[in-house]
Amino acid sequence: IISKFNTLEVVFMSDCIFCKILAGEIPAAKVYEDEQVLAFLDISQVTPGHTLVVPKEHHRNLLEMDAASASQLFAKVPLVSQKVMTATKAKGMNIIANCEEVAGQTVFHTHVHLVPRYGADDDLKIDFVAHEPDFDKLAQVAETIKNA
Ligand code: 5GP
Ligand code: ZN
Repeated sequence: IISKFNTLEVVFMSDCIFCKILAGEIPAAKVYEDEQVLAFLDISQVTPGHTLVVPKEHHRNLLEMDAASASQLFAKVPLVSQKVMTATKAKGMNIIANCEEVAGQTVFHTHVHLVPRYGADDDLKIDFVAHEPDFDKLAQVAETIKNA
């Protein structure tokens, strides 16, 4: 379905829940909107004020976006984050993009989670399991990525 959003032409995916929110077909608690992005409260509120920043263009996730589309999305992240921080008086925030199922992605339309943090015992748990550094391995992996 092709539809018009102000002057911006947007391709909506008919089976995508976020495209449905963008098209106004299902409601959302919106906190910010411009020509490129819509931000609304995540329905499951991991912490109070948990917000999603969503590009109006449908992309499966960040891994499939080009520089221009990603720039337009990320350009708005500081502004929306600051509004959430001001409103919630949170002490910090995790800004997260889950890409693909193995990384926890459940909605396959790019979105950036803004999760305000209030203390170590709030409901977002992220574990970075640290390993002993192996400098040869680091150099090897870095080389592989550089050449990819
Ligand atoms: P993911 O797991 O893909 O990184 O995040 C998807 C998020 O979308 C989840 O945190 C989930 O709570 C949220 N979500 C799913 N369906 C809806 C909906 O219909 N409305 C809103 N506001 N959030 C949704
Ligand atoms: Zn979509």
